[in-house]
Amino acid sequence: MTSKKVGKVLIQHFLLAFKAYNLEVIIMEVAAEEIVDELSGGREESFDVIIIGAGPAGLTSAIYCARYGLSTAFFETVDPASQLSLTPIIENFPGYEGDGFSLLDRMKNQAIKFGAVHKFENVERIRRIEEGFEVISENGKYLAKAIIIATGGKHRELGVPGEKEFVGRGVSYCATCDGHFFKGKKVIVIGGGNTAVTDAIYLKEIGCDVTLVHRRDELRAEKALQEELFKRKIPVIWNSIVLRIEGDEKVERVVLLNRVENREFEVEVDGIFIAVGIKPATEIVDELGVEKDPVGYIKVDKRQQTNIEGVFAAGDCCDNPLKQVVTACGDGAVAANSAFEYIKMMGAK
Ligand SMILES: Cc1cc2nc3c(=O)[nH]c(=O)nc-3n(C[C@H](O)[C@H](O)[C@H](O)COP(=O)(O)OP(=O)(O)OC[C@H]3O[C@@H](n4cnc5c(N)ncnc54)[C@H](O)[C@@H]3O)c2cc1C
Repeated sequence: MTSKKVGKVLIQHFLLAFKAYNLEVIIMEVAAEEIVDELSGGREESFDVIIIGAGPAGLTSAIYCARYGLSTAFFETVDPASQLSLTPIIENFPGYEGDGFSLLDRMKNQAIKFGAVHKFENVERIRRIEEGFEVISENGKYLAKAIIIATGGKHRELGVPGEKEFVGRGVSYCATCDGHFFKGKKVIVIGGGNTAVTDAIYLKEIGCDVTLVHRRDELRAEKALQEELFKRKIPVIWNSIVLRIEGDEKVERVVLLNRVENREFEVEVDGIFIAVGIKPATEIVDELGVEKDPVGYIKVDKRQQTNIEGVFAAGDCCDNPLKQVVTACGDGAVAANSAFEYIKMMGAK
């Protein structure tokens, strides 16, 4: 139960007691709402810009907005977490080689240092209001003149029997988070893109007995990553898809189908890491009427402006051609500049 709900329950009990003694309930109810807001942080804090997202796109926006002198808040949540926090090793961000979490931490500290306010709250709704926008999170309501959406993406599911049942009991979507539970054990990684290959390399490095399973006969991952994979002699099961995941208390085996030979076969495993892509986390803009492409990516112009005035978007949630840390940062900087220009223009009106 959130602090707001706890507050409300307590105050309802007080009101019932007052009613029982015929005291002035209306005055008490108004006061009660105020007390709840004060207790819960539910008051409407105002900012020039609210950024939804604390990945590289959102944090770059926050650094730029704060340095433009705009009062700025940035929000993040646990599900989805920033994809950068799940990246075990990053080697293609200019000037940095290391794990994703440390890079993200540096960006976050930099944004806070310049005055941006960090909110660890899931944003549930964004509404257009006369003064600008109202952002409603699990903890409260906030006002902003402009909004930057930088919500990234979340993992896709396979949609096969056993997948949902065994999440946390052998099925994982995050090698960085869960890999260490499988040291010395047999795991498979499903997928053929950068994430799947990165995950397979990472799992091998930490001591898992890892095999990659891919539905085609060649990988989509960058050549450099493929070379790393083959250098480590990580086996690949080609042309195969998962039909179902089986076990008793936890995952014991996967049933695969070789699509070329139309042959079903079983592989005994302790863990299965699913890395078949990311879908955009863009549901929260639906109420605003923000335009998206058929997959759900937010449509933006060169200035990261959406079809809704005052709403900008940056990073992996947009319909940009390359989804990487460096491009997310670039988008974030442009979105911040556009938000700054927009607020200046509004002020001049
Ligand atoms: C395993 C893996 C390896 C990768 N390797 C590389 C690599 O080597 N090089 C590279 O350049 N890129 C790599 N990437 C891609 C890179 O991580 C992404 O392109 C980048 O993180 C996108 O940044 P973003 O800010 O757009 O979104 P994200 O980093 O996904 O951040 C999204 C943010 O939005 C927040 N959010 C979402 N919804 C809400 C909500 N409703 N309320 C509040 N907050 C919300 C999340 O909490 C998060 O903070 C990798 C990705 C993965 C998964």
